[in-house]
Amino acid sequence: MSGVDGKVVAITGASSGIGEATALELAGRGAAIVLGARRGDRLDALVARIRGEGGRAEMLAVDVTERAGVAELVALAVDRFGRLDVLVSNAGVARLAPVADLDVDDWDAMIDVNLRGVLYGIAAAMPVFRRQGRGHFVTTVSTSGLKIVPTQAVYAGTKNAVRTVLEALRQESTDGVVRTTAVSPGYVRTELVDHVEDPARREAAQRAMADLGISPEAVARAIAFAIEQPDDVEIGELVIRPARQG
Ligand code: NDP
Repeated sequence: MSGVDGKVVAITGASSGIGEATALELAGRGAAIVLGARRGDRLDALVARIRGEGGRAEMLAVDVTERAGVAELVALAVDRFGRLDVLVSNAGVARLAPVADLDVDDWDAMIDVNLRGVLYGIAAAMPVFRRQGRGHFVTTVSTSGLKIVPTQAVYAGTKNAVRTVLEALRQESTDGVVRTTAVSPGYVRTELVDHVEDPARREAAQRAMADLGISPEAVARAIAFAIEQPDDVEIGELVIRPARQG
């Protein structure tokens, strides 16, 4: 099965930024979309928009740090659309600070969402993929994991941990049932750094995003490219960043 049309795609972190843009891109190309994030009001509005444009979409307000919630999201796709072809594990948080600041709660938050949330997605979708004989894990990692910079230690660590899991999964999946894609964006203009607590660091990050950042739609098109490949083709890694990013 190649192309996007007719595929069933569940997306976490679909209430804003890259996840929202990906939902719109894929729905516009004929995929049925199952949206997950905590802000249900935003998901409701996105479902209404996709349906208003003739697409198919369902939503579930879900916190990816809760294993049962992620399992429900996958179950919703199977229940409403009969199967799940792609799980886009995109929910993520970035809390930027030097390690020596010892923001242990922030470390926990990033590990819980960026790593544990992705693992819960794999746990939920893998039995479905094996039963179907096919399935695709697409995960948003980051160029932060490729080029380590100060204040991003734990964030980059979670992204590199996910990259490692996906590569191992790829090597373990030579029967061709499961495909994996790690998408590494550079600066993208989204709400991601609006949640950084320290005002000076938040403003610096927001400035960098505004000055350099590419659109979330550009990343959405890259994700669609990975998804539209025929079953025997795996786009393992995709790096997409601003042309001016160092
Ligand atoms: P946004 O802040 O716009 O999107 C983050 C999404 O994650 C939101 O939909 C948010 O929804 C969701 N989310 C956060 N915590 C949870 C949770 N506990 N449970 C469920 N959903 C959650 O930022 P981006 O679009 O930029 O981020 C998307 C991904 O891209 C992230 O993994 C991020 O690390 C990655 N990335 C972003 C880059 C950038 O420059 N913007 C660069 C490289 C990677 P809600 O709050 O409603 O739950």
